[in-house]
Amino acid sequence: MVQSGSMNSQGTITFVGAGPGAVDLITVRGATLLKEADLVLYAGSLVDRELVRTYAVDAELFDSAGMALTEIITIMLDAVAAGKQVVRLHTGDPSIYGAIQEQMTALDRLGIEYRVVPGVTSAFAAAATLRQELTMPEVSQTVIITRMEGRTPVPEREALRRLAAHGATLALYLSVGMIDTMVTELLAGGGYHETTPVAVVSRASWPDELVIEGTLADIAHKVRAAGISKQAVILVGEALAARTKGMKARSLLYDESFSHGCRA
Ligand code: SAH
Repeated sequence: MVQSGSMNSQGTITFVGAGPGAVDLITVRGATLLKEADLVLYAGSLVDRELVRTYAVDAELFDSAGMALTEIITIMLDAVAAGKQVVRLHTGDPSIYGAIQEQMTALDRLGIEYRVVPGVTSAFAAAATLRQELTMPEVSQTVIITRMEGRTPVPEREALRRLAAHGATLALYLSVGMIDTMVTELLAGGGYHETTPVAVVSRASWPDELVIEGTLADIAHKVRAAGISKQAVILVGEALAARTKGMKARSLLYDESFSHGCRA
């Protein structure tokens, strides 16, 4: 937009989820905001500059990968004070391991308004790649999004072996580099077994996307052999057996004997 950077217009800040990677997996709203942006601060470690440029053709671009929080906030503040439309672009959905709360808190303290636009988180992109429902009737109706403890601690009550007791469908982010420990923890929880299916989807929705499937008994070995050490989501749970074994349980929603609001 030609005029949006002028001193007369009011500056805005919007946190936008870019989606998992593919250029066309951003929301229509997110893409529109990028088109209208004067300045885009993107998390360059995971968001592709090409995606940013596809929509934000003329905007000033900043890669936040090497920046500290104060630097990020300063850039946003200066831009919004100059009446610019600012997009803070995060990978996937900004609410999942996006470190947006600290940015929003800083803006709150300064009395600066902002909005958030969701995005497709990588666990859902991975499920789409696999063509897999994560909530299978009579198998699991729960999806747990979690991670292995890294430099960011995980509260003890959410330790992986405790979550593993449920046997629910699990989506693990930021953990593929610790897959051996992950397997040990999952097997210690009681809810999974050596035969429990696991799928590792690396760079879901990107041209070089890679899928490794196995069980808790062999997945660590397979992942190492494939050389996957980052940017992968790990899905675990009996629900994943639906494609390979075929599931007896089906949803009541499309069952002929089940009536509901839309069908007598
Ligand atoms: N906010 C992001 C997650 C950021 S944390 C989201 O909603 O997806 C970074 C982690 O996300 C990576 O370690 C990896 O586990 C996952 N990730 C991000 N993009 C991915 C992709 N295209 N395919 C698989 N995993 C991805």
